[in-house]
Amino acid sequence: MKVFYKLDEWLNFRKKNEFDLLGFVPTMGALHAGHLSLIQKSILDCNKTVVSIFVNPAQFNDPKDFLKYPKSLETDLKKLKDINVDYVLVPENSVLYADDYKYKVIETSLSKVLCGKNRPGHFDGVLTILMKLFHIVKPQKAYFGEKDYQQFLLVKEMVKAFFLDLDIISSSTIREEDGLAMSSRNQLLSPSEREKAATFHKILSQNRDKHHINEELQKNGFKVDYVEEFFSRRFSAVSIGSVRLIDNLEIS
Ligand code: AMP
Repeated sequence: MKVFYKLDEWLNFRKKNEFDLLGFVPTMGALHAGHLSLIQKSILDCNKTVVSIFVNPAQFNDPKDFLKYPKSLETDLKKLKDINVDYVLVPENSVLYADDYKYKVIETSLSKVLCGKNRPGHFDGVLTILMKLFHIVKPQKAYFGEKDYQQFLLVKEMVKAFFLDLDIISSSTIREEDGLAMSSRNQLLSPSEREKAATFHKILSQNRDKHHINEELQKNGFKVDYVEEFFSRRFSAVSIGSVRLIDNLEIS
């Protein structure tokens, strides 16, 4: 496994190497089995796989949230080595954002609802970093988790809108045994908050309307950001204390 800490080194390497089928999994690190499932999928599908680890400041509308975002680079690298990832990119913020974030990708519709409503600018930050990374890595396939379904849809539509020659592939949500969707943020929960968090998915899965689900979540001590239904899926974001959790599932 080769780890690139300098973007310039990767760009040089990429210029000198052609790949028939290069798979790419962008992440913000603090890797768990959800991330690893996407990476395994890429390893199975593609000749070579690139994973990036970069906590993207532009997608955090709350600076406190950015500062407390979990970081575990050494353990992450070990996990990636254990599953035989080919290349890891740990790019420098100063090089990625040499333009000081003056140039952005802005979506004006889907990015304004659900998570976009309470997190202004979040998806602009996500789409901008991904546009940069797609040009930097030049993969043929990129993998995204259904856990962040709105993000997956926005990326797929961006790739179409800008005629990028790239397949966007989705992968199902990996959950803890009690149903909680795996997330790097789960490690910020205290033991009692973690216990409560397990009821989020259970309540969301009830065969009731979204208003009932919203009330149930509140009764169980969640601060509800939204419960909405789109594209035959139910989406929700809640907070427990200062930790924000999101989930979504298919509904009939
Ligand atoms: P993040 O590091 O949170 O930016 O996530 C990187 C990628 O992993 C995104 O495509 C996420 O949707 C995906 N991902 C995160 N958690 C899960 C999960 N529990 N199951 C499947 N994919 C996930």
